[in-house]
Amino acid sequence: MGKRGKKSVHIRCRRCGHISYNVKTGVCSYCGYGKSTKIRKYNWKKPGK
Ligand SMILES: [Zn+2]
Repeated sequence: MGKRGKKSVHIRCRRCGHISYNVKTGVCSYCGYGKSTKIRKYNWKKPGK
């Protein structure tokens, strides 16, 4: 358990609340905040069976 540094790539997204907001790209990988105003949505991401 060494120190991995304190730089976090993902921070708390202010829109979805997930820790998926990429600081580098400025886009939330979860909801797409920062890139699009719409909630990230994929067509292939269909609801479970
Ligand atoms: Zn988000």
